[in-house]
Amino acid sequence: MTSEAAADCLFCKIVAGQVPADVVASSDRVIAFRDISPKAPVHVLVVPKEHHGDVSVLAAADPSLLADLVALADEVATELSDGQYRLIFNSGPRAGQSVFHVHAHVISGAKLGWTPA
Ligand code: AMP
Repeated sequence: MTSEAAADCLFCKIVAGQVPADVVASSDRVIAFRDISPKAPVHVLVVPKEHHGDVSVLAAADPSLLADLVALADEVATELSDGQYRLIFNSGPRAGQSVFHVHAHVISGAKLGWTPA
């Protein structure tokens, strides 16, 4: 889905200020807020303000918005950590996606393991 905002979308409600979030950064078209259930010392979600379902939908619809999202993720990792980070887009339920508004997880602040499955 690529509309401006989607009904019953948690992250659209955060963007609209209807659900509270710990916002750490924002730009014209992207917002970053702390994950409510952090998996690392720094765990921030970076989200386009427009609704797009997943990263492949966003890449096809608006590559420059995806680039803006990656740029804000890099800024957040530099501001809150040491600029070294993992960027994760879960795409699809079996990959762990639970919120169907594209978001990058910025994971940082520790030596990271690698056990995705
Ligand atoms: P995913 O499972 O990749 O779709 O990621 C969704 C993420 O959203 C999870 O890591 C949740 O902990 C996080 N999350 C769910 N609700 C909220 C919320 N209200 N504020 C911040 N993060 C949230």
